[in-house]
Amino acid sequence: MKLVHIKQIKGSRSLYGTFLYMTLLPLFIFGIVLMIYSSYTQTQNIRSEVSDNLRNVGIAVLSAYDAGYEGDYNVIIVDGNVEFYKGDTYLSNDYTLLDSISEATDVDISMFFYDTRVLTTITNGEGERFVNKGANATILKTVVDGRTPSFYNNVLIDDDRYFAYYMPIMSKDGLTCLGMIGTATPAAGVSRMVRASVIKTILIMLLAMLITAWFIMHFTSGIIAIIKKIMKFLSEIADGNLSTELDPVVISRQDELGEMGRLTNVLRGSLRKLIERDALTGIYNRRYGGNKLADLINKGIPYSVAIGDIDFFKKFNDKFGHDCGDAVLIEVARTLNEHMRGSGFAARWGGEEFLLVFENVSGMSATVATEKILDAVRERMVEHNGQFHSVTMSFGVTSGNPTLSMDENINNADARLYEAKETGRNQVIGE
Ligand code: GH3
Ligand code: MG
Ligand code: MG
Repeated sequence: MKLVHIKQIKGSRSLYGTFLYMTLLPLFIFGIVLMIYSSYTQTQNIRSEVSDNLRNVGIAVLSAYDAGYEGDYNVIIVDGNVEFYKGDTYLSNDYTLLDSISEATDVDISMFFYDTRVLTTITNGEGERFVNKGANATILKTVVDGRTPSFYNNVLIDDDRYFAYYMPIMSKDGLTCLGMIGTATPAAGVSRMVRASVIKTILIMLLAMLITAWFIMHFTSGIIAIIKKIMKFLSEIADGNLSTELDPVVISRQDELGEMGRLTNVLRGSLRKLIERDALTGIYNRRYGGNKLADLINKGIPYSVAIGDIDFFKKFNDKFGHDCGDAVLIEVARTLNEHMRGSGFAARWGGEEFLLVFENVSGMSATVATEKILDAVRERMVEHNGQFHSVTMSFGVTSGNPTLSMDENINNADARLYEAKETGRNQVIGE
């Protein structure tokens, strides 16, 4: 049988695509926003750590000088050279303290007397110290004139970019600002730290997003697979294949999809009943009975058929009403159906006519079996409105002749039924 295919509208998205669009898009937007936010905070944190570190180094240097040498910082200009003192101690050539702190902390240190760099650990390519140079005017204005410590993330020293922290150096009496101390670290190093930390965070977040996306895709495709099973089942039903089975995986689900599958199964059952069964008696109808017999013949299974007709049925309708006629039909159908179980099937062939099909049964055996069935019909009293009615039937039986068509064989049975009617009714004429 050809399956009915549900065509997709051109340009429409698949349900799978829609599901992924609905779940993955917000996930990626959320992830990207989180990545940007956390990169920004991490950068800020690292910068503030760098700033704190630089400040602490500056404080350590000033404390060390204060602990080692009495007095205020001062300079004397000798032959155009600036000589830097603390109290009476000449500092310009003594880098022991500054270099050791610089080495231990990996921070460059410069000291300014007012606007002049008088001590520094920063050297040029030839190893010369970068001293006797003026300081940046903006920095001087804030730190020396304004007496405010300040952090900068883009200070150019000898063409290199630095992160630098500047603090004012106050005189002992706290009244005068004598200069400032600057601590600096190359911006390249900080950037490397930021990059390493941000990349790590981004990688972890990407991994988390990928795992989440995988779970979403896995569960989505599971749901789609179930929906597709239901769709396939429905298209088989639409194609008329009512004996198709729904995958038990769908039915065993405890969610809405399972419920949908169960309802579809019920729908299949209702449709099947509607198509295969006679509405009044509940046994097979003429179309389904005919198809079933045709299938049997196609498979080459030997068979016999009987056509039965209720005797003087009109009298039930005429004397006791149509409802009574219906009750007789229901009761007769039930009797025939019960007795055919195991040897074939019964179908309502017309108004009060029934077809009996015996599978793998000879004409003679079928005749004997039909006589037993007729006995059962005679014995079964039909109750209607408190009254009991006995029913008799006439049957014509024939074995299925493989050289004849199905209709011809049924006509042969019908001819015998006619004979049974003509010769007194309430009897079976067969082989
Ligand atoms: P005979 O012994 O020759 O078969 O006589 P009969 O009265 O049974 O035969 P006839 O064919 O004249 O009557 C059949 C009647 O069955 C005619 C019709 O009104 C009635 N009939 C057909 N289908 C139904 C049904 O579904 N319910 C009821 N109550 N009557 C039906
Ligand atoms: Mg009749
Ligand atoms: Mg009739």
